[in-house]
Amino acid sequence: MNSKLNLVLALLLLTTSGCARLDDRESSRGDDIAATAAAATYHNDNHDGDDDDDDGDDGDDDRSEPGTETVGEIILEPAEPGPVFGYEDGVGPDLWAELSPEWFLCGEGAAQTPIDLNPGQADMATLDKLRLHYRPTPVDVVNNGHTAQFNYEPGSWLKIAGTRYELLQFHWHTPSEHTFVGEHQVLELHLVHRNRRGDLAVVGILVTAGDENAELASLGGDRTLAQILPRQEGVSYRFDELEIDASGLLPSDRTTFRYHGSLTTPPCSEGVRWFVYSEPLTLSTEQIDILRNALSQLKHAGNDGNNNRPLQPRNGRVVSLSR
Ligand SMILES: [Zn+2]
Repeated sequence: MNSKLNLVLALLLLTTSGCARLDDRESSRGDDIAATAAAATYHNDNHDGDDDDDDGDDGDDDRSEPGTETVGEIILEPAEPGPVFGYEDGVGPDLWAELSPEWFLCGEGAAQTPIDLNPGQADMATLDKLRLHYRPTPVDVVNNGHTAQFNYEPGSWLKIAGTRYELLQFHWHTPSEHTFVGEHQVLELHLVHRNRRGDLAVVGILVTAGDENAELASLGGDRTLAQILPRQEGVSYRFDELEIDASGLLPSDRTTFRYHGSLTTPPCSEGVRWFVYSEPLTLSTEQIDILRNALSQLKHAGNDGNNNRPLQPRNGRVVSLSR
């Protein structure tokens, strides 16, 4: 596909049609799982057993027009019905359970996320190997007022003990939701997966400052991270010619903390399998600043520009540490 043609088409769409169309997906409540789940289908054509080594030869020679402010097709997300939650005063995490009866688990749940992760307090174990098979796909980048979310197309998955969970989307929190030996990190990345039964598995990765991340540094050629993040709530950008490979966001050491927890946004549903890498992902300070700046401007960011849920009681849950 000719990328320049794509760009022209996108520009035409923007200038002639007002660029907006209502998306028929569902609301973005609860880490936007409902919305992305509705769009997800399951493919069985992948070579199982192929362990997170799908480099997916980029082969991408897209070049955006320098200076253009147009970053992709703009899609307006419909407003969410029902109560509003956020991280700011009046609708913050300490009040979520009171905002809707359906969100009672946010207050009463006994297996909630996030928690502190400490190798000294984890069960050292040799558990089933976590297999990740991520491939590059075009993405929709969504500002849902609570996070910056990258909706993934079907065909990427996590596999554990013979069960496959499709990757639906990934998104960011600042500062981190989990702490590592009591310390927050600057950002946390969540990769949300769902299996055929509807069970969820989330891969969490804490972020520290250091070397630049190559995947975020070369988004489909000349795109910059700052260009692709929608600044307005309820807006998503679609990039048919821009591919992201989530495998480029994984730390090299595949050791993960594992425990059973919950969504970290309402309705705080439990039964979520958590896999949090013990090694952080390294981003440059510039990349961190771009993401934190975008998150701090979210409609429902907290007073400190945060969008993280505070720590929850561990309540005797087993936390394992395994490769
Ligand atoms: Zn999250």
